[in-house]
Amino acid sequence: MMSTINQITVIGSGVMGHGIAQISAMAGYEVVIRDIQQSFLDKAMEKINWSVNKLAEKKKINQTEAEKIISRIHPIVDIQQSLKNSELIIEAVPEDLRLKHKVYQELDKYADKDVIFGSNTSTLPISEISSFTSRPNRFIGLHFFNPPQLMKLVEVIPGDKTDKQITDLVINFVSKIGKIPILCKKDVPGFIVNRIFIPLVHEAMYSLDRSKSSLVEVDSASKYKMALPMGIFELADYTGLDVIHKATNEMYSRDKKVVFPHPKIQELFENKELGQKTGKGFYLYQGDNYERIQLTEELAEKFDPISLVSVAVNNASWLLSNEVCDKNELEQALMLGMGLKRELFETAEIFGINNIIDTLQYLSSKFGTFYEPDKYLLSMKK
Ligand code: NAD
Repeated sequence: MMSTINQITVIGSGVMGHGIAQISAMAGYEVVIRDIQQSFLDKAMEKINWSVNKLAEKKKINQTEAEKIISRIHPIVDIQQSLKNSELIIEAVPEDLRLKHKVYQELDKYADKDVIFGSNTSTLPISEISSFTSRPNRFIGLHFFNPPQLMKLVEVIPGDKTDKQITDLVINFVSKIGKIPILCKKDVPGFIVNRIFIPLVHEAMYSLDRSKSSLVEVDSASKYKMALPMGIFELADYTGLDVIHKATNEMYSRDKKVVFPHPKIQELFENKELGQKTGKGFYLYQGDNYERIQLTEELAEKFDPISLVSVAVNNASWLLSNEVCDKNELEQALMLGMGLKRELFETAEIFGINNIIDTLQYLSSKFGTFYEPDKYLLSMKK
């Protein structure tokens, strides 16, 4: 059994893969980055070069260091060669179970027997993906956030069969690359952060329908009253409606209680209104310079986000009563992964636990089981 990790292979050089390769090389690891076409790897290396040179320009690192970082990253198309001497494989291919199946069969065939498999999946079940390999005991979820160069959080998710030593080794690796690992003790749909974030986007749409408020009013309230880093619709546009749509479907197909899908998300996805990246989502983004939407405390006063707070707190309570993480881990994950500026349960206290329970009971009587308050929340009743 290996005791440390020195060399890693990142499979997939897209949005996530190239960022993960970069931060790993910056932490001193030798990194192979693999994709299916040389041109994809060239593009990824261009982006990495740009980003590392930017750090040198800003004097965060010196020129020699910048060159060393780049020299530690080896772009390779040939799968067999890309896995040579690798101790940890981080897979970041598109979120499609069939594709992941194919990729893991191939990796299983060529990888060393001691290698660790880490999947960057956002929503697919780790135990299910691990069964695509002959060694589910060496398989783990390693969920980075976008962009990995900046986001500090990595959710670490063992599957049913993951060895404890593998979990420990991976947690150690995450710390060494300067990230904060949060252990998601159970392989549940959405893990920790997406279990709160994704349903919140849908609830924001429902509350918009019910209240006749405007997008900016809901967004102002989510920013100023719920302590989100920006409006919830802004955050959805920033994340990408394709990502949200995909995550919704994956989560909903496994557990009807985790999210209450609003048809607007599907509609935006089908219209290719994916948010900032396409110039239109909930908002319109025109011109080269992204003009920030004006959210104000005054506008926040026009909307009561109680149902948003209630849904977020209810899903958080579910995580706690199912022992997926403890309260500190939950709050830390939400601060680092969603940018919450105040603890969620502190917000819950401000809005009132009893008020939240009443809201959920009222909504569940009208709209069904999704809103039923969790037992952890009920136990907090005053
Ligand atoms: P992406 O589409 O930007 O990149 C995927 C890359 O994988 C592409 O370059 C593609 O050519 C490559 N690829 C496809 N098949 C391959 C193979 N057999 N071998 C090697 N490379 C192959 O996708 P992404 O946004 O980087 O997402 C990757 C994973 O990370 C997904 O599981 C996704 O759910 C997860 N994730 C994404 C985000 C996000 O916001 N984008 C955040 C967290 C996690």
